[in-house]
Amino acid sequence: MKLTIDVRKLNAQKKYAGDVTFEFVGDNSLIEIPYVTFSSPVTARLHYEILEDDSVEITGSVTFSLKGLCSRCLQEAEQTFSGEVDAYFVPRDGESEDYRYFGGVIDLDDCLGDAVMLALPGRLVCGENCIALEWSEQ
Ligand SMILES: [Zn+2]
Repeated sequence: MKLTIDVRKLNAQKKYAGDVTFEFVGDNSLIEIPYVTFSSPVTARLHYEILEDDSVEITGSVTFSLKGLCSRCLQEAEQTFSGEVDAYFVPRDGESEDYRYFGGVIDLDDCLGDAVMLALPGRLVCGENCIALEWSEQ
């Protein structure tokens, strides 16, 4: 699936604001924890708003699960994580912190990749009852 928002089409349909949901496969090479991979697709639930100058505000969340060995006790573990999406797209070269789009279509790959990266944990834990918690503060 292409992670795009077609601003020209939405403008033509006068759908200046709305909600969209995307699902895509997470990039395992982003995960820095040993023996841990994505165990679900990443779900992005987004709200977009097209402003008068065709800038687009996109807010929402990304959610995904990771599976692998608990970083503390090495038992199988699976945890769900989510992160925020709060992005501003301008249809031209803009301020460096803005995302840009050209040709009337927003490509969300970078934006959602960044959101996933920010939401990735430094470690995976099997749960509150992890046996390693009894002898470790960390
Ligand atoms: Zn554990």
